[in-house]
Amino acid sequence: MTPTPPQHVPMAQFASAGDDLLINGQPLTRLAARVGSTPFYAMDRSLLTQRVQMLRSVLPQGLKLHYAMKANPMPAVVQHMAGLVDGIDVASAGELLVALDAGADPHEISFAGPGKRDPELRQAVASGVLVNVESARELAVLEAASQALGLPARVALRVNPDFELKGSGMKMGGGPKQFGVDVEQVPAVLDEMRARGLQFEGFHLFAGSQNLKAESICEAQCKSFELALRLAALSPQAIRFLNLGGGFGIPYFPGEQPLDLAPIGANLHELMLRARRELPEAELVIELGRYLVGEAGVYVTRVVDRKVSRGQVYLVCDGGLNHHLSASGNFGQVIRKNYPATVGNRLRAEPEVQTAVGPLCTPLDLLADRMSLPRADIGDLVVIFQSGAYGASASPARFLGHPAVTEVLV
Ligand SMILES: *Cc1c(COP(=O)(O)O)cnc(C)c1O
Repeated sequence: MTPTPPQHVPMAQFASAGDDLLINGQPLTRLAARVGSTPFYAMDRSLLTQRVQMLRSVLPQGLKLHYAMKANPMPAVVQHMAGLVDGIDVASAGELLVALDAGADPHEISFAGPGKRDPELRQAVASGVLVNVESARELAVLEAASQALGLPARVALRVNPDFELKGSGMKMGGGPKQFGVDVEQVPAVLDEMRARGLQFEGFHLFAGSQNLKAESICEAQCKSFELALRLAALSPQAIRFLNLGGGFGIPYFPGEQPLDLAPIGANLHELMLRARRELPEAELVIELGRYLVGEAGVYVTRVVDRKVSRGQVYLVCDGGLNHHLSASGNFGQVIRKNYPATVGNRLRAEPEVQTAVGPLCTPLDLLADRMSLPRADIGDLVVIFQSGAYGASASPARFLGHPAVTEVLV
């Protein structure tokens, strides 16, 4: 007997009615009519709310949950999230403006990212947000901005740790990195912060992204905590802020299972207890992007043409990698695999092996490669699941000059 090939986990977060997928209760056909054009991204606001509630039920009380808005910077989404989480993490002054518009409390906004330009640092000081400093260069700029504006510059030090987050889709700490300040250089940078009179609040560690192994995440959190303890001993003031990072992943590909949160919750309970004793003034923070929003969103594109080439069925759609680079496999994947997908207005149709592609003149423009999908025809709506993070804003919209994608929060 041949073993059954690994399947995608069921996308059970979305209900259905008849042939239609439901996005927060709205049948997809009707939603497409109300949006008025395809392609579009649809985010389900009740799923966003449920995700945060579910996390809060597992995480220790008092642990601050931040939304890293680069995962989905759509203003309506950021506004919804700002009402649910304890803070917003921004990675540019552009994102900062969106977060402030969304009503996020500046005191609970932090700004990380390499290569912050002088005007961006000045905007951060003027806004009163916490800057996660990534290099000694930023200190001089912050001091000047603070003096010019007559406002304190609130700073945390982003540390490039001496370990990695094992099994991460993207590693963002350990070894040589453009992110943060190497552990070895931290004492010197702390001295300079003090000399420049900056308001030092604590440390930021972020080891990696898209991790599905609870054990690895717990290990990285423990190592980050231990490292912060060592570094706190070098700091003149008590640490008020310790960001342990995130990296919580979601299942995208066949065979991947959802992250087991229970051990992570238990580990964070332990770390909170230790923090109360060993860093009594510190607020503990985790920052999540994709885990909060990724599973709540779909990308919807209409079939423009259906053709058969040497036996293979092609659904040629009105959008592809120009709107959804990551589903096409070109955003950091080593081997291309399919995102979960369906035909969202034909859920009860007979399945058939079909290939969904976008309209771009490149073989890279692939959304679903030989997947078993409900049989689709011209006019039908191909749905790519797990599309709430790193979608429109992470895609080359102008490549080939097709219309922009619409985004709605339902
Ligand atoms: C990108 C990023 C995040 C969010 O990562 P996700 O994988 O979306 O959770 C959080 N913190 C920092 C510093 C980042 O650069």
